[in-house]
Amino acid sequence: MKIKLINATLLDVANSCVLENYTVCIDGSLISFVGENDNLFAQAFNADKVIDFEGDILCAGFINCHSHNAMALFRGLKDDVPLEQWLFDNMFVIEKFLQPKDIYYGTQLGLLEGIKSGITTNLDAYFYPKSIIDANIDLKTRLVCALGATMYDNRLEGLTQEYLSLKDANDLVSFMAYAHSIYTIDTKGLEDTVIFANEYKLPMHIHLAETLKEVGDCVQKFNKTPVQLLEDIGFFEHKCLLAHGVHIDKDDYLILNQHDVSIAHCPASNMKLGSGIAPIHSMLESNINICLGTDGPASNNSIDMFREMYLASMLQKVNLCETNIMSAKTMMRLSTLNGAKALCIDNKIGKIEAGYKADIIRISIKDINMLPINDYYSNVVYSGKPENIKMTMVNGEILYENGVFADHIDVEKIVFECKNAIKRLKFESEIQV
Ligand SMILES: [Zn+2]
Repeated sequence: MKIKLINATLLDVANSCVLENYTVCIDGSLISFVGENDNLFAQAFNADKVIDFEGDILCAGFINCHSHNAMALFRGLKDDVPLEQWLFDNMFVIEKFLQPKDIYYGTQLGLLEGIKSGITTNLDAYFYPKSIIDANIDLKTRLVCALGATMYDNRLEGLTQEYLSLKDANDLVSFMAYAHSIYTIDTKGLEDTVIFANEYKLPMHIHLAETLKEVGDCVQKFNKTPVQLLEDIGFFEHKCLLAHGVHIDKDDYLILNQHDVSIAHCPASNMKLGSGIAPIHSMLESNINICLGTDGPASNNSIDMFREMYLASMLQKVNLCETNIMSAKTMMRLSTLNGAKALCIDNKIGKIEAGYKADIIRISIKDINMLPINDYYSNVVYSGKPENIKMTMVNGEILYENGVFADHIDVEKIVFECKNAIKRLKFESEIQV
């Protein structure tokens, strides 16, 4: 299908500028033209569908670099308890009763929320990856599937077979080798994850340095910081994405710099779980790639990149007592360009440019909270909300427009199945709110 988006205000995040009266032409899954409305190519482009943006913002879809979407099932379950208690006494207990069907519909519930807030790509790390992949393929969202050791689950042989059976699932899906964390996976499991990544040349993903306890335990057990431990095990021989990185010493920045390591900053989750404030300003100053993640909806409790951008900026300003850092333009880089780089698909997404995949969102400039427009970037990052999203397109296909999901998305069925799933899970695990 050929689609033409006209009269758009393009946020060119790579060049930190705003381009008004722009047209973007889409041919199939790809952006084929980006230029001014009166360009001859734009005018001659014979589209099946033309959408007049009426001055609304057009930008690359948000990239959620760390999520466990199916945890939408556990939203609001056991909030306001200490992290260790929340994780070990509640999440890990109820998760044992999850079935593939729960993951499928739970993931889709999370994806619906993400689509409504302009998220077009998710890195998802959770149980039953085939269900996560199917959930994304059926909704037509882009996925980076973190495949590997979940909890106390060191299983290289099964992992390889699983990868081989899933790797060609769909063009929308790519993979990372995954180990949950250094406190749930033993050293052998971490080493096996590196072997798996070596075999299939995959980038790597892991939760790291999320809490002071994790760092303290690591130093006590190995006499190394978490970053040093992973370096010694070989994680950084590959491109690597660390979730959280809240408690990483400046001494370890050098190690991250020497390798291709990105940090998925999850400000809402870090705040809610009382984990601390990741030093992302100083990391950015040290040329470490920082992107954004929502983490799971059980520890957030939303999937809303507007909120993550806002919180990420505000946390640094308040922590360092400085206002001239973490600008709105920087936050837009984190949620688009930097995310694509961290997920190793920056040759495909993260930019509005000919040849890139058509992962595009429309943000209204006519809603009350967006008026007046003195600075487009500021309005998106500091005033923007999911309800300002007027269109979400992935791979050239419109998934959501003017408050309505596309025909292939059965919202009622997803909600029905999720309500049944959490009812059963609470009964089986005997966990109640
Ligand atoms: Zn996580």
